Amino acid sequence: MIQKLEGLKTTLWSGLAVSLLIVATLATQNYWLVKINFIEQVLMGVFVVGMLFSAQFSRSRFTLLIALCFGYYLVSKNVFAGFDILNQNPQWLYLSTLFVLAYLTLIKDRALISIHGIVRIIGLCLCIVLAKLWLIAMSWLQGYSTKNSLTYLDIELIIINFPLFVVALLVLFKSLRQPNLLVSSLLTTLIVGNLYFNEQISLPLSVMFSLLVLHYIVVVVIDSYYLAYRDELTHLPSRRALNQYALSLGRKYCVAMLDIDHFKKFNDNYGHDIGDQVLKLVAAKLAEVKSGGRVFRYGGEEFTAIFPRKTADEALDELEKLRKSVADYNIVIRHPIRKTKKSRQGKQSESLKTVNVTISIGVATRQTKNSFEQTIKQADQALYKAKKKGRNQVCQ
Ligand code: GH3
Ligand code: MG
Ligand code: MG
Repeated sequence: MIQKLEGLKTTLWSGLAVSLLIVATLATQNYWLVKINFIEQVLMGVFVVGMLFSAQFSRSRFTLLIALCFGYYLVSKNVFAGFDILNQNPQWLYLSTLFVLAYLTLIKDRALISIHGIVRIIGLCLCIVLAKLWLIAMSWLQGYSTKNSLTYLDIELIIINFPLFVVALLVLFKSLRQPNLLVSSLLTTLIVGNLYFNEQISLPLSVMFSLLVLHYIVVVVIDSYYLAYRDELTHLPSRRALNQYALSLGRKYCVAMLDIDHFKKFNDNYGHDIGDQVLKLVAAKLAEVKSGGRVFRYGGEEFTAIFPRKTADEALDELEKLRKSVADYNIVIRHPIRKTKKSRQGKQSESLKTVNVTISIGVATRQTKNSFEQTIKQADQALYKAKKKGRNQVCQ
């Protein structure tokens, strides 16, 4: 299957949202600068709320990140006298932050009050140690360089830029590969942190942290919403979202049930994993529905399309277009043979295969006095009719 940059949208959204937030904050400096003492006091509460909130919603990576920001903020305010060793070594602080962001990108959100929590805290400490070891190694190289071809200046450039390049590449890759808002916001943190460190964003630390933590809280809210209302495989709104949406429908609407034909056989022929990928691609096609329709994953290989303020007759053309677009869709899959090590050395064209699937659709207009569930049942009966008539068609 041709890999897509599925996380591109979340990456762009996260970047755009934070950029707008920073631009708006910079543009309104005159208003909030006079209240900076108040902001600093509120920030303490924002840190605590951010940590509790992300922990409550099982986003422990944010809990750790906010705790680290909180700790750093307190150190920078000299709350813990004598603990500012990192602060006095900007390079160490910078590299530690880089490694922590890379580490958080690689781990999963696990309960902090468990063995995983201990492992994660050890991991974070190791990031700080690793940063120090890197600096020690580089200063050793600098001493050595006077006698060799590597110049002192070359190494000075590598000290920060090389880890920055590797970490940025890793976080960018992870962010682009999966539609995961949490990873996207780690990338945003990396970019914003860099601009801040290089003094390209001139905001007080308290304001900067307020923006970041508020951003994390918003990300947790949006991510939780998506988890509850989006189907994990197809990214279409889920059945729960359908039931919620049904409550907002007026008296006139129609419901269509869409079902992939002979999908069991498809799974038997190509395997469940390829079946999943095809399901995803068909869902993406269905999501392109127009005429005011909305598509949901009903369950398995079944989807539901709702057309508010339309009768079945009025939605027929659009449903026919959907049916045709799926039937005409040449889905390129990588043949299972591709999975073995030996075949990977073979020509790529041999391992690619084009497959087609079709869908049957049943549609029903909501009748006066009928509930949403009853209308779904009628659409299901129409779907059954379409299957009986030979599949790959729309029936009322
Ligand atoms: P029909 O044309 O009558 O709809 O035949 P069908 O084989 O599609 O219908 P049936 O309901 O007998 O089987 C549905 C199959 O869809 C069973 C299961 O293998 C497959 N399926 C359901 N959900 C998923 C999924 O999430 N991933 C994959 N890969 N397959 C699924
Ligand atoms: Mg079915
Ligand atoms: Mg089916």
